[in-house]
Amino acid sequence: MIQLSPNLVRLGAQASSKQEAIRQVAELLSQAGHTDPAYFQGMLAREEQANTYLGSGIAIPHGTPETRHLIQRTGVAVLQVPGGVDWGGDTVRLVVGIAAASDEHLDILRQLTRVLNDPALVERLSTTGDPAEVVAALGGKAAPAALGGAAAPAALGGAAAPATPAPTPSDDLPYTAQVTLPNPQGMHARPASRLAGLVRAQGGRLRLARENEAQSADATRLMEVLGLGLKQGTVLTLSSDSEALLQAARDAIRAGLGDDLSAAAAPAAPQARREPTWVPAQVSATLEGVPAADGLVTGVTRQYRPQALEVRDEGGDDPAGQAAALDRALAAARAALDVTIADVQGRLGADKAAIFRAHQELLDDSGVLEDVAGLLLAGHGAAWAYRQVTDERIAALQKLDDPVLAGRAADLGDVQRRVLRALLGLGEEQPLDRGEPFILLAPDLTPSDTARLSLDTLLGFATEVGGPTSHTAIMARGLGVPAVVAAGAGLRDIPDGTPAILDGSSGRLYLRPSEADLHAAAEQRRRLEAGKQAAFAGRMQPGQTRDGTRVEVAANINRAADAGPALEHGAEGVGLMRTEFLYLESDHAPTEDEQEREYRAMAEVLAGRPLIIRTLDIGGDKAVPYLGLEQEDNSFLGIRGIRLCFERPDLFLPQLRAIARVAKDHPNVHVMFPMIATLADLRRARGMLEDVCRELDAPRIPVGVMIEVPSAALMARELAPEVDFFSVGTNDLTGYTLAMDRLHPVLARQADALHPAVLRLIAVTAEAAQAHGKWVGVCGGAAAEPAGALVLAGLGVRELSVSTPAVPAVKAALRRHDLTRLQEVARQALAQPDAAAVRALLEPLTEAEA
Ligand code: PEP
Ligand code: MG
Repeated sequence: MIQLSPNLVRLGAQASSKQEAIRQVAELLSQAGHTDPAYFQGMLAREEQANTYLGSGIAIPHGTPETRHLIQRTGVAVLQVPGGVDWGGDTVRLVVGIAAASDEHLDILRQLTRVLNDPALVERLSTTGDPAEVVAALGGKAAPAALGGAAAPAALGGAAAPATPAPTPSDDLPYTAQVTLPNPQGMHARPASRLAGLVRAQGGRLRLARENEAQSADATRLMEVLGLGLKQGTVLTLSSDSEALLQAARDAIRAGLGDDLSAAAAPAAPQARREPTWVPAQVSATLEGVPAADGLVTGVTRQYRPQALEVRDEGGDDPAGQAAALDRALAAARAALDVTIADVQGRLGADKAAIFRAHQELLDDSGVLEDVAGLLLAGHGAAWAYRQVTDERIAALQKLDDPVLAGRAADLGDVQRRVLRALLGLGEEQPLDRGEPFILLAPDLTPSDTARLSLDTLLGFATEVGGPTSHTAIMARGLGVPAVVAAGAGLRDIPDGTPAILDGSSGRLYLRPSEADLHAAAEQRRRLEAGKQAAFAGRMQPGQTRDGTRVEVAANINRAADAGPALEHGAEGVGLMRTEFLYLESDHAPTEDEQEREYRAMAEVLAGRPLIIRTLDIGGDKAVPYLGLEQEDNSFLGIRGIRLCFERPDLFLPQLRAIARVAKDHPNVHVMFPMIATLADLRRARGMLEDVCRELDAPRIPVGVMIEVPSAALMARELAPEVDFFSVGTNDLTGYTLAMDRLHPVLARQADALHPAVLRLIAVTAEAAQAHGKWVGVCGGAAAEPAGALVLAGLGVRELSVSTPAVPAVKAALRRHDLTRLQEVARQALAQPDAAAVRALLEPLTEAEA
């Protein structure tokens, strides 16, 4: 950030004309070495094009883009003219001259907006005799996302082009590092805004680029970062002017920037046209699109044509007024999104609500706001400027020809519409759900449109454009209605009330089917629905096989707020509480009290059902920037999990104490240690827990270990007598067994937990546990797949801990088979040559679900 220095402030000046005032402020800039004296001409030329009067007696003269080469260093100078100078009809008393070689001047411009809104401050700065007062008012750090920041990259000669050269070591950003992006969903809005927050909090500059690619993005500009289209496994080059910032950013990216790295990659969204398993015999037309959400419905069509927004470029003669109007519109949009978030969270869950949290972040995108402010200063109206800038971003994302980014373009379009409606005084859009049930046909639907749909009337929808990974499609899957996207322009010619069949699984819309087809479709639908509904209806039944062998189905959760929804999905307890999320989601190590509150809240919600708290599992792919841990060349084989806890008793002991304090009142609390590789590890960790329990007079707490290192599986016979249970972490066990990094861009696909090598280690573990009367669970991703759940049950696993939405289907899969059959299949699985053969073997068992 540039600092305004006292020698660039001239107080008590007099100027007979605007030109004279500009000359004086230009002189200040050139005398301080910021510009060539000829920059003055550029400032005059700019003034010819558009008046730089900002409002409240402040003007901001600056050069044209053509004279930008006359800037030697970015700088700002202030000329105070207490007697005022005429500025094309307005009287100016503060002339803020700007020479902007980059966007550093924006901080000062943001400060100016604050000043603008404070008449008493304007008065003081216009008359003060103390330059320090001006420096303090304009040189302080600005609030990160406030628009008002009248900032003008375009108007001030800043290039608006999104692509800039890739970060290479330069005087400007001399520190560089590389990091692989671990996020299963790539760099989407939420992690990107976390990174921006980190950069703002630490100060300094950070740019990101794909390895060896020219385009780079400023980490504080959300849309630029999203525009890079960064997917899981992309190698990023980071560059910064601060070594500390670079390290912190690299660690934070490695830690997932708040994303759950153990979650599977984007839920297997159907990506392409699929052959239908069912086709009607006689229809008048078939429209083919891309499947977005499974299901089959029959009904009549209804067109939805969102009202076109008419935006005129007006109000540009009052940039400050327009900036204030935009600020109000942004605030209104933010408040409306709060309501949507609460509603969606209640109806569809936190993951769907997160889509709208990301929309709030898009509202605050500093790159967008700065460019809009630039257009306001250049004399455009707020609505016109906002649409112009967001349209450019949307087009740029669409051009990347990436379905995920096309989805983000739709999100930005949704946000744009909200803001424009607020600016145009149109209020909230009307709900789409009046009248008889219908199949909705639309050019496209925004996530906000989808959130407004009511299941009372919506049977399903088809859109002309859109992608299967869009948030609208994700919402449709959450709503449980079939959806087809990219069905083409033919949709718009279908009259309302046309009888139709929508097959979301194959991506087809059939028009005017025969009576016989309608019956056949209804029959097919009943079968599919019955399967899903039976699973959901049966979610509260105990997890067990058809012959009654208990296989408890629990949930993996990260925070107390997740416990209620887990129970509602039929979870019989919590088989893995990943405590590291308390650390990852905070900017400090959670205190003993904070941890106790979280664990206690969780134990209370579970009301006696098992709660397995896994102690801190940091290291490997999970880094916590503020812990200051050393970088290791081979972090997966280094100080991670329990090893880190041994190194850092300052972290481990408070955690054990917090757990023990809760266990005093809640006997359902269990402790589990991650990354146990040896018997000595277990004994040492257990010893520390027992010490803490003695110290706090807490009862004995059941203890388990994660089996996620091959040595632990192979030593299970020795470990079993000293634990109460095992829980297999198939995510890490697979990685360590096959020597394939679970995040590796090439290898991750092959790292299949159903590989016979992994299954054999699980079999060994289960046998050892059984021999000592202990139980074995699985809390890695393999447990959440019906095929995985079945083979694991056959191997002797008696608890499966899975992500909350997977609970009903896993229970339903278990209920369909006798244990003896699963044992037989498991035996055969162990003898297969590879994971593909295991999956082929299991296929008939899961086919029964369809
Ligand atoms: C695992 O490794 O399977 C596991 C459950 O632990 P995490 O995914 O948290 O490393
Ligand atoms: Mg693990």
